[in-house]
Amino acid sequence: MRMPRLPLFAVLLLFPVNLLSAWDVDLSLAVPGGIVSVAAVDREEISGGVELWYQGRRVSSAEGIPAAVGYVALLPLPCDLSAGEVELRVKNALDVVSSLELTIEGRDFIYEEISLNTAMSELRQSDDPRKMEESRRMWELLGSFDPAASLTEEALVLPVGEARQSSSYGDRRLFLYRDGGESRSLHYGIDYAVPVGTPVAAAAGGKVVLAADRMLTGLSVVLEHGPGIFSIYYHLDSLLVNEGDRVENGETIGSSGMTGLATGAHLHWELRINRVPVDPLLFLHRPFVLP
Ligand SMILES: [Zn+2]
Repeated sequence: MRMPRLPLFAVLLLFPVNLLSAWDVDLSLAVPGGIVSVAAVDREEISGGVELWYQGRRVSSAEGIPAAVGYVALLPLPCDLSAGEVELRVKNALDVVSSLELTIEGRDFIYEEISLNTAMSELRQSDDPRKMEESRRMWELLGSFDPAASLTEEALVLPVGEARQSSSYGDRRLFLYRDGGESRSLHYGIDYAVPVGTPVAAAAGGKVVLAADRMLTGLSVVLEHGPGIFSIYYHLDSLLVNEGDRVENGETIGSSGMTGLATGAHLHWELRINRVPVDPLLFLHRPFVLP
């Protein structure tokens, strides 16, 4: 009698992963808004790319980047991921895929409603070509992958210290427009309620890849801290850096404000890994890659 054939990942799961594959997985931040990291001493073991799949949908992908020992691929977990099983797929240089089922813990997020005045309603609903172009450029920038950028080994610092948070990462938002319309969105960063003019520090050392005035986000700065890893600062009142500058961890990059679409003075701070917004607070007391 013929034995039914098992899919490759099912066969692999019958054995401990490390017998078959020379890579390790770190699940210490495997929550929505966190990361799963896959490390290999030999780049060939992960050089075909690493992916996370959830309910038939690829939720993130990453390439191996140089780390203290070997290479690491950082897979972000989006904030709209529910608790459940996620499949990790690791492809080596010979296109052989090894796979692992992971269980992701759920996480509660806050729901908030935000009423916008006429000017802010128009700004958010506008299809001004400048807004579209700025959004396209940002998407391109966050997907850019500079293999020469070295991954910071520091934990992040808070850009405005222990200031009060007025919105959290992953908030489920309902915007109420002046004309009675509404739209839903997710809040991808953290808002700190600080007075206009508060110094804003770089959360980690890196390179300034954007310093510009944007329609929705006002004076904005994006820093790159490693290949595919960016921190973002919005609604600033002044900029102290230019594109191309290098900054140290904690260095002042500008001052906070309420430029762009802002209902009050605040700093919006965001962290992106391979385009996906993750929770910056998870990286305050540990580096992106554990030693
Ligand atoms: Zn915000």
